[in-house]
Amino acid sequence: MRRIVLCGFRGTGKTEIGKILAGQLNFPFIDTDNLIEQKTGRSIPSIFHDEGEERFRAVEREVIAQLPQKDVVVSTGGGVVIDPSNMERLRKESVLVLLVADIDTIEQRLKRKPRPPLTGLPLREEIAEMMERRRQHYHAAADFCIDTSETTVEVATGNLMHILHNGMVMEKQRETGMAFFKTGRIPTPKLHALEAILTDPARDPLTRLLGVAGYPCAHSKSPALFNTLFANYGLNYSYTWFEDPEIDEIMNVARELDVKGLSVTIPFKQDIIEYLDEIDEHAAQHIGAVNTVVFACGSAIGYNTDWIGIRKPLISLKGVNAVLLGAGGAAAGAAYALTDLDMQVTILNRTPKNAQTLAERFGCRWGDLQEIDRIKPDLVVNATPLGMHPDDHSPLRDDQLNKEMTVFDLVYTPPETPLIEQARRIGCRTITGTEMFIEQAREQFYLFFGIDAPIERIREMVL
Ligand code: NAP
Repeated sequence: MRRIVLCGFRGTGKTEIGKILAGQLNFPFIDTDNLIEQKTGRSIPSIFHDEGEERFRAVEREVIAQLPQKDVVVSTGGGVVIDPSNMERLRKESVLVLLVADIDTIEQRLKRKPRPPLTGLPLREEIAEMMERRRQHYHAAADFCIDTSETTVEVATGNLMHILHNGMVMEKQRETGMAFFKTGRIPTPKLHALEAILTDPARDPLTRLLGVAGYPCAHSKSPALFNTLFANYGLNYSYTWFEDPEIDEIMNVARELDVKGLSVTIPFKQDIIEYLDEIDEHAAQHIGAVNTVVFACGSAIGYNTDWIGIRKPLISLKGVNAVLLGAGGAAAGAAYALTDLDMQVTILNRTPKNAQTLAERFGCRWGDLQEIDRIKPDLVVNATPLGMHPDDHSPLRDDQLNKEMTVFDLVYTPPETPLIEQARRIGCRTITGTEMFIEQAREQFYLFFGIDAPIERIREMVL
């Protein structure tokens, strides 16, 4: 069996449940807080008090790095999930179980224990504040989630043992899932691999799925990239295609199969919002589109990483004069990213009315595509699909570009679009849609698993 790692807030029962579980599995039990105390010869409150949280986290990192890799149950400190290097190490060839409890239960349990203060707030407020701060990290850490609020440690351990032996998805749900995948356009060898995960009697019940949700999405590069990442980081996950004209159908199957996460693409980035329990601030309030869904502890939480994929390659161009071509979903992410970088943005679109609507949301100027002649921008971002099809031409004429400009084409299939070829020929600095894809996928991987994959590593996998 893989190494079992328990994470979660203080007072969720990690130590008690970990001890019972280790006894039942006949594995040694390790509590990382105990190891920290042994290593430093001091109690955790005294490390916090005398040397501060930073020193505690440094020792914690050393302890995590030295944990045995297999046949062990590990209970971790409540804040361990925040550090991506801890997550990378803890996740390798392991099952991460997130223990949760409601705030009343945690408060009652912690009243009985001494605690190192982290915020200086009264206990209940500190719990609420720290739980909120760490929420996204806990979600990323959870392969499986157990609520310990209204139960004994023995019952909670029993529930956990059941999951470790059977997984979360029952036979009927797996068969329904398989029937769904057979209606899509998944390549035959990949469909067989899915059958092995879902319906083979010898399957590993702990293997979980993620995927790209779209219609069509068979062309997506995400399955190849994410499956390579899973192999590299020792994650027991498989990434596939959820291709269907109905988002309703996709979300039903995703929930039935206890999917860990979805990358969302055309045409569902807006429609998916009504299926989610929560949406992060950037995705919901500003962009109005979701391209990432994380399922954790019964909730589906939406994020947008497209705008980060556009913002990162442009950081050195803060404050420049920019033209954004297009006014659809990708353009909304781009408008958010460019205005966040304090650029003066003009949105130009085939249908000027749509440019106006988007421009008014972000306080930009707008116009039709010919307006570019008047503007003479430092940066052009193409957020139209022009360039995707073999007979597409560049959205701009040669005389509308000059070598001082930066040209960013969001289209990434093909990687060399007519606009990129034209801009290179003229001598502009160019950024391809592949850069956006790499950056947004890196951020998705972080939201799904809490691991910070180096951008160079992802670039090598994609190119
Ligand atoms: P969308 O919501 O359908 O919006 C398309 C926009 O392009 C609209 O403003 C539309 O104008 C305009 N447009 C469409 N066809 C046009 C044409 N023939 N000439 C001029 N303008 C045209 O699509 P989207 O989701 O924003 O995606 C746009 C592109 O971004 C896609 O091609 C996709 O490849 C790329 N993308 C890349 C990444 C990445 O990771 N690199 C991620 C997401 C998207 P109207 O308002 O007049 O219809």
